[in-house]
Amino acid sequence: GDLVASVSTHSRHARVNVLKISVADAMKRLSRLSPALGAFEYHADPHVPNLVVAPPGTDLHAHAMVKRGELILQGKSSCFPAVALGARAGWHVVDACAAPGNKVRSIHWFPYDRVGETTHVAAVVGAGGRVFAFDADRARLRRLKANVASAGAGEIVVARCEDFLSVDVNDPEYAEVRAVLLDPSCSGSGTSGTRGDYLLAAARGDVVGGSGADVAGGSGADVAPPDARVAALAAFQTKALLHALSFPSAERVSYSTCSVHALENERVVKTVAPRALELGYTLEKALPAWHRRGLESESAGLEAIGGAECLVRADQREDDCEGFFVAVFARPPPPGAAER
Ligand code: SAM
Repeated sequence: GDLVASVSTHSRHARVNVLKISVADAMKRLSRLSPALGAFEYHADPHVPNLVVAPPGTDLHAHAMVKRGELILQGKSSCFPAVALGARAGWHVVDACAAPGNKVRSIHWFPYDRVGETTHVAAVVGAGGRVFAFDADRARLRRLKANVASAGAGEIVVARCEDFLSVDVNDPEYAEVRAVLLDPSCSGSGTSGTRGDYLLAAARGDVVGGSGADVAGGSGADVAPPDARVAALAAFQTKALLHALSFPSAERVSYSTCSVHALENERVVKTVAPRALELGYTLEKALPAWHRRGLESESAGLEAIGGAECLVRADQREDDCEGFFVAVFARPPPPGAAER
């Protein structure tokens, strides 16, 4: 179908893992090791630093640099949260729902098998920082740990099999957490992999609802009617976002999905807005240079916290990347935290 065709015309992205190699060395090695990848170019992406762009169809899975964890196959839009989060070297950060979802891996032509927000944040905070990474799914957490080890981030990331909603935000261990990245389970309706699932399921005549999501513990089959399923995801996303905002010393919280549904995106932000304002948060204009913003049609109810213009959307048909949504909440450091 045309969705699959449109996906195959996307550029392929790979993030240079600066924990292991500098961008300059990576580019040198890329040209030395892969004369066959003549068209491979380092593209100084205006939105995502350290991102390598290859022509559509390039398959880097077997590349030695990928195997060594120097290059991480990560779609451009899935790099947005760690960039928009704006953590600094040495920060303590929570990655609330950290493990890679697995649906997309079953699609053989899907280019990114190691999504990597945790390792991306680890590269940002560096050796002096800490990333507390939670996931409720044991098998996925194992994959996360393998990715973290491969990326050389084992000393920075503390990965725990825990339901994020049960994490005690007042635990002294998290007293210095200044940023929280929340990328919870979603319908995945903005991604090619799940569009692929959708197309396959549609071809089989199955009823699917927005689909391909990775709800903790779920085995993947879509049985609930679409609207009920998306509403259930939105209810979880809202709870998780409220929990993320409640870390006492947090100054920045990013919320992201790879869904196209307003219900999982702008409306989640609207639902938490009153509480976020009470806690001193407003929306920051995330990735200010990015062109596609939150839905104007959803702006009612967002004015007080900053407006739909603050939000980021990516459209998999129009933009050269997967469908995505990002919101960034920011507040001044709490009193007493200034001298950190
Ligand atoms: N950010 C990840 C990456 O870059 O690879 C992808 C995260 S994926 C979209 C969402 C994850 O949330 C899944 O691995 C799922 O197991 C996890 N999850 C769902 N419910 C959770 C909960 N209550 N607590 C912690 N993790 C949860």
